[in-house]
Amino acid sequence: MRIAILQAGAADESLALAAAAGELLARGHTVRLFLEAQEKRFVQSIARFQPDLAIVQAALMSRVWIKHAVELLPAGTPSILVGTAATFDEEILEASDATAAVQGELDDSLPRAVEALLSKDGDPSAVPGFVYRDDAGRIHSTPWADGPPEFSDDRPLPHRDLYFDPYPFMGRFPWKRFQTGRGCVHSCGFCYLPGLRESYGGLKPNVRRKSVQRVIDEVLAVRRKWPVENIHFADDLFAPGKPWLEEFAERFPREAGIPFSCNTSSETVTESTAQLLAKAGCRVVGIGIESGVETNRMDQLGRPTRDNAIERAADRIKRHGMRLLTFNMIANPGETLEEALETLRFNQRLGTDYPRINLAYPLPGGWVEQASIERGLELPDPDSFARADYRAWCVEGDGKPFEILMRLFRVSTRLNVPMPVVQALTKVPSRSLFAPLWLYNAYVESRWSGVGPVDALRYARHAGGPLRRVTYHESIP
Ligand code: SF4
Repeated sequence: MRIAILQAGAADESLALAAAAGELLARGHTVRLFLEAQEKRFVQSIARFQPDLAIVQAALMSRVWIKHAVELLPAGTPSILVGTAATFDEEILEASDATAAVQGELDDSLPRAVEALLSKDGDPSAVPGFVYRDDAGRIHSTPWADGPPEFSDDRPLPHRDLYFDPYPFMGRFPWKRFQTGRGCVHSCGFCYLPGLRESYGGLKPNVRRKSVQRVIDEVLAVRRKWPVENIHFADDLFAPGKPWLEEFAERFPREAGIPFSCNTSSETVTESTAQLLAKAGCRVVGIGIESGVETNRMDQLGRPTRDNAIERAADRIKRHGMRLLTFNMIANPGETLEEALETLRFNQRLGTDYPRINLAYPLPGGWVEQASIERGLELPDPDSFARADYRAWCVEGDGKPFEILMRLFRVSTRLNVPMPVVQALTKVPSRSLFAPLWLYNAYVESRWSGVGPVDALRYARHAGGPLRRVTYHESIP
């Protein structure tokens, strides 16, 4: 069968979709990706392909695009939504004209959903985590599988050429993401993972890891065809277990020899894991700070990590010659500007090389949404929200100072801008004065990835810059 996959742009490249596409190819389907931003005649290109079925990336904060994409399909083409909105937005099927939605990870359930819709004897009620319309248009949903899909060396390799073949500028970009594992032991109140774990019954181990051999095979398979000069391992938690890391540190530099960055948590950065990461070729380690106010981090954001654990991890990362990247979130419900500035101060104290910063977003069913509703805040309407509408919705009163602080965050951390100066700048009446800082922010992003300016600009010319992407998660598109 011919399956079209629809996404908005190159910045939304999803490892989860590439893995699911590998499973579909192995079952004999023909799969072709269409990125709307890269196609001069998006509708005509899809129609020419004559798909039997379409898979549409349905990420949270993208309802407008999801509806639009489904409407563009040739008449009568069944469509399956996948991704964070398909998983967490209970109204997404009603809000679009799509045929069905797959909830959660796709590796096992997407091929089954495709068969259920396309084969004569297909039984949608047997597909786990499936929301679908019956012939009368009524919506049904099935229970999730008892645990997320397991990794196995026998699974087909991810179909990375899903992106690289039709859009070679993506293949030629020398920085590429891979995944060695999925899942996390933490339960941060603003993250998708606790909800995902709960929906899978919370019983089976949530943290899964590919074998070292499999990781090396996946990397080398891409490198045989495309340049791979820097890697980002986009796991939730890269360093949870020492035996795996010992084997990886021994083999990866010898058999692949590619510098990489990764994300992990402060708790996992022991003296020996820091040493092993450096030995394996790690350049940059990302850890979550979220809030610089310890009590807010622990009590509100549900992240029981003390300041001294973060300081210890930062010190180990730097002492072993790696760079420190941090994840930060401001404009949380109830947060004052002074508390948000404390997050900046904490990063300055740590000497963060690459600070990443987000405004809190009210994920459906999450702590941020609940706390915002309790405070009577007006939340964005998912039916009219577009990417450019990103705001400090979750603070009471004027959100502008937080939005300015977000723009200033990277430069203020890296150049240690004195706090009174930052405070004064957050009071400037217009946000747009700070818009040119996107250039600096994009520069910092390209620095941590290790990509040179020419490659970064060449990629950004097509993809629109590294900061522009939907709210996907590495495990679900
Ligand atoms: S935010 Fe990071 S540390 Fe927290 S639950 Fe999610 S993946 Fe784990």
